[in-house]
Amino acid sequence: MRLYTGSIMSPIAENLQEVRGRISEALQGDSRAVTLVAVSKTHPPGMVREAFAAGQRDFGENYVQEAVAKIAALSDLPATWHFIGTLQGNKARDVAERFDWVHAVDRARIAELLSRHRPAGRRPLNVCIEVNISEEATKAGVKPGEALALARLVSTLPGLRFRGLMGMASPSGDEARQRAEFAVLRRELEALRAAGIEGDTLSMGMSQDWRAALAEGATMLRIGTAIFGEREAHAWRQSA
Ligand SMILES: *Cc1c(COP(=O)(O)O)cnc(C)c1O
Repeated sequence: MRLYTGSIMSPIAENLQEVRGRISEALQGDSRAVTLVAVSKTHPPGMVREAFAAGQRDFGENYVQEAVAKIAALSDLPATWHFIGTLQGNKARDVAERFDWVHAVDRARIAELLSRHRPAGRRPLNVCIEVNISEEATKAGVKPGEALALARLVSTLPGLRFRGLMGMASPSGDEARQRAEFAVLRRELEALRAAGIEGDTLSMGMSQDWRAALAEGATMLRIGTAIFGEREAHAWRQSA
């Protein structure tokens, strides 16, 4: 990340340019399309506007209440919104009504609620299933080897479109370990394809481990800190 140096670009625009540059460098000779999701959780709408002005279109949010207010404040922007957090059943409606993607579905009940509450006039909600690739007990997601049943269900629900898998590596700082964990997600998607379930998305990689994710086939990177800077302890709240 770069600090503001007084140039004409905003710091967010500079960070975006740097992150995009590093990603395309890492992709040299690889024609795969990679979507950068700028994770704007805890940051105010003004920072999202800055990123949008710099050409960024996909944004990721984790907290439903915060996101609902933020999306409303930015309703004039044709942005694509990704819900990347863990979703509770009682918030499924808010998410189904406002977002374009949900990355971390890990239960049939949540998939059914999202489908039921997807407004009829909108395209089906793009859904990824979260797989617990680090196998830490505290992490969400279905176990590796258990995504197929849920993927089949998602594929049958009219309000949803199954897109692929999402995973988070353990925060080890060890690139070999990160790659081994991301490889579990890649192989899981290959297993779904072999079983006849088409998915084009591997949502994996954050500010600290996106290189490992890209090396293992990521098609969506979810990057927050490297674009917007460190997060404050408290989420942005709309003030009346
Ligand atoms: C916060 C978050 C990110 C972004 O993390 P950074 O380290 O800030 O890039 C990505 N994915 C999920 C699920 C997150 O909660």
